[in-house]
Amino acid sequence: SEPLDVERIREDFPILEREFRGEQLVYLDNAATSQTPDPVVDAISHYYRHTNANVHRGLHHLSQEASIAYEEAHDRVAEFIGAEGREEVVFTKNATEAVNTVAYAWGLAELGPGDEIVLTEMDHHATLVTWQQLAKKTGADVKFIRVDEEGYLDVDHARELITDDTAMVSMIHVSNTLGTINPVEAIGEIAHDHDALYFVDGAQSVPHMPVDVQAMDADFFAFSGHKMCGPTGIGVLYGKERLLEEMQPYLYGGMMIEKVTYEDSTWHDLPWKFEAGTPVIAQGIALAEACDYLDDIGMENVQRHGEELAEYAYDRLSEFEDIDILGPPGDDRAALVSFNLDGVHAHDASEILNEYAVAVRAGDHCTQPLHDKLGIPSSTRASFYIYNTKAEVDKLVAALDEARQLFA
Ligand code: PMP
Repeated sequence: SEPLDVERIREDFPILEREFRGEQLVYLDNAATSQTPDPVVDAISHYYRHTNANVHRGLHHLSQEASIAYEEAHDRVAEFIGAEGREEVVFTKNATEAVNTVAYAWGLAELGPGDEIVLTEMDHHATLVTWQQLAKKTGADVKFIRVDEEGYLDVDHARELITDDTAMVSMIHVSNTLGTINPVEAIGEIAHDHDALYFVDGAQSVPHMPVDVQAMDADFFAFSGHKMCGPTGIGVLYGKERLLEEMQPYLYGGMMIEKVTYEDSTWHDLPWKFEAGTPVIAQGIALAEACDYLDDIGMENVQRHGEELAEYAYDRLSEFEDIDILGPPGDDRAALVSFNLDGVHAHDASEILNEYAVAVRAGDHCTQPLHDKLGIPSSTRASFYIYNTKAEVDKLVAALDEARQLFA
């Protein structure tokens, strides 16, 4: 694979030229939301200017065009993640809505006292809170696979925790806080050995590496468009066709029905059964465009570039004795680095970085229990994508050095 032509890529992201008080933006908050390239913005604009109509499969030309484009967007996303076809790809509002769909459509019907849901200590609130609250509603129990000192998942502990009482194993693929890349295939095998279902949260993996939901044998898989060059307002729930067929819908209304009488209703084919009401038409079409955009660069190239930057940032930050980096070593992590500067609150550090127009995240990154476990209130996170450069990492490090001296 080829190295990325970052200068060329940056031309697609005019937002990167923005300056704040004379400093050029260094956007290192990609794990929260990535920037949106011109071809994706153009796809949204083109849709509204030329094709906008509801997708009732109306008989008029516009509706037919919009319907075909929207349906084909499902095929494109299916191809991007290695799903069998559009039947297995449900468009939602975001990854959070995707996990809630499984929790309510599957979990509320299937879980009860004696059932166990196994999560990991590094799971994001999107899945952790959802399964925790569903457990409270259903009487199921929740258990957490341990994260070890280095920030890796303890697979032996997973083998102990996952038993024949386990109904669902839900795991984050790539940790948005630690940068850990979890062994999705190994955990999936353990889950299936005990006839548990397997849900993978791919919000931080799909944007950054080639993903094949069938290779990891995920029963369900979720991610968001806005972290992968797509727009906000769209997420994806992948589910194995057989499971989605068996499940009852979670949202009811128009578009998701086949036949309705005053007494009862039947459901439309997959995936429409799970897309009640007017769906995310423009967002879905734009997400397909984002898949094209990333595939043109090549997901192996995307992955290598992000991980190289993370390793470089890890090495440069390691030069400072008073910086603690969370998670695995520099050469074994995804495209992000979270850290704490001794004696400086993450919010103060990020405010100083902001003076240099370096945009990072400070807080718990929707992993409060993990931060509690680590004994820290918060951390600062720099996260990278296809348009970032080593020079930008250098600017981050220089700005942090200023922060250290200010607070020393
Ligand atoms: N899971 C992970 C690992 C995430 O990083 C995020 C986004 N921070 C989510 C789930 C939730 O994504 P969204 O807010 O788009 O629903």
